[in-house]
Amino acid sequence: MVIPVDLGARSYTIVVEPGILAAVGPHLRQLGVGSRTVVVTDAAVMRLHGGPVTKSLEAAGFTVTVVEVPEGETAKTLRVAEQCWEHLLNARIDRTSTVLALGGGAVGDLAGFVAASYMRGVNFVQLPTTVLAQVDASIGGKTAIDHPRAKNLIGAFHQPRLVLVDPAVVQSLPDREFRSGLAEIVKHGIVLDADYLDDVERSAAALLRRDLETLARIIGGSCRLKAGIIERDPEEKSELRYALNAGHTIGHALEAVTGFARWTHGEAVALGLVAEAHLAESLGLAAPATTHRQQTVLAAVGLPIRANDVDTNRVLESITHDKKARDGRVPFVLAPAIGTFRVVYDVPIDQVRRAVDALGRPETR
Ligand code: NAD
Repeated sequence: MVIPVDLGARSYTIVVEPGILAAVGPHLRQLGVGSRTVVVTDAAVMRLHGGPVTKSLEAAGFTVTVVEVPEGETAKTLRVAEQCWEHLLNARIDRTSTVLALGGGAVGDLAGFVAASYMRGVNFVQLPTTVLAQVDASIGGKTAIDHPRAKNLIGAFHQPRLVLVDPAVVQSLPDREFRSGLAEIVKHGIVLDADYLDDVERSAAALLRRDLETLARIIGGSCRLKAGIIERDPEEKSELRYALNAGHTIGHALEAVTGFARWTHGEAVALGLVAEAHLAESLGLAAPATTHRQQTVLAAVGLPIRANDVDTNRVLESITHDKKARDGRVPFVLAPAIGTFRVVYDVPIDQVRRAVDALGRPETR
C-alpha cells in the first residue's frame, strides 16, 4: 500500500509492505539524496531487524554508520542527542545526507529531533518497528526529547522524506507491547472511520494471531487515517489534529498518577477511551450503544476496559494540568457516534469524576 502525504514542498510517501525494510536502499535512491547515511537504532532492534536495512543501503551505494542508542524512553535525552550529533559529525554528515530511524517511537522521536536540529535540518527517514510507531509516531513530523520535568518538551516539527512500514517486523514484539499499539488503531476507527472500526472488530482474532495480511491491511488503514489528518493540519494549528488525542486526556492522567508503571501507554489509552465514552454518554452526546461498542472492540483486541483502585481525585488533578490545555481549559475529544468526534471544553468536574469512576464499575449493557 502506497500512501501519499500531500504537504506541498514537504510531501512524502508512506509505503506499507511486508519485507519493505530489505528495499530501503532503492527507495532512498529515488529521493536523490547524498551518499552518506546514519541509521539510529537500539541494540535489540538492530539485532532483530538491522541486517536487511544496512545490507540494502550498502547494496544501493550508500555508506552506512549505525548509531545505537539506549532502548525506549531513556534514549530521549539531551545527552543522547548530543552523542548522536557527535556521531553525525564523525560520519561527515552534511545537508544532502540522511538520518534513518529504525525502531519504536522513542528512537523515531530522538532521531527525528537530531535530524531536525543538526545543520538546521537534514533528510530524515522513518523505519518504524512497533505497532505504535507504525500507525502513529512515525507519521506527522513531531520529534522530541524529554526534559527532566516534562516529556516531549524539547522538540521540533520535521517531516520525514519517506516512511517505510514493514508489518512483518511487529511479529517479534512482546505480546503486551504489540497489544498496546492496537489501542491507537482502535482510536483511529472510533473518531475517524466507522467502516475501518468494523474491519478492526471483524479482524480482532486475526490481528491477535498477527496474521500478516491482516496486519498489513489494518496497519495500512491506520496510516492512511492519520495521514489524512496530517495533510489538513500539519502543525497542530487547528482542532482537527485533536482527534488524535481521543482517549489521551484521561489516559495520560491515569498513566501519570501511577508513575507510568501500572499500564502501558496503549492500555491507559484504552481505559481513557472507555472513560471518555462514558463522559460523552453522560453529557447526552452519545448513545449507550456507542460506549458499549468501544468497550467490545477494545476488549476483543486484548486491552483493558476496567480498572480497580483508581485514585479519582489524583486523576482529576492531573487532568487539570494536561499540557494540551488551552488557557487553562482542558479539551476532551468525544465521539458522538462511531467515526465522528467533537472537542468539548469546560466539562463539569463532577461529570469527569463519574466517567473515571465508571472504570471501577462492572460492565453494563
Ligand atoms: P519505545 O520506542 O519506547 O520502545 C519500544 C521497545 O520495543 C524498545 O525496547 C525496543 O527495543 C523494542 N522493539 C522495537 N521494535 C521491536 C520489534 N519489532 N521487535 C521486538 N522489540 C522491538 O515504544 P513505542 O511504543 O514504539 O514508542 C513510544 C514513544 O513514542 C514515546 O516516547 C512517545 O512519546 C512516542 N510517541 C511519539 C509520537 C509522535 O507523534 N512523534 C506519537 C506517539 C508516541
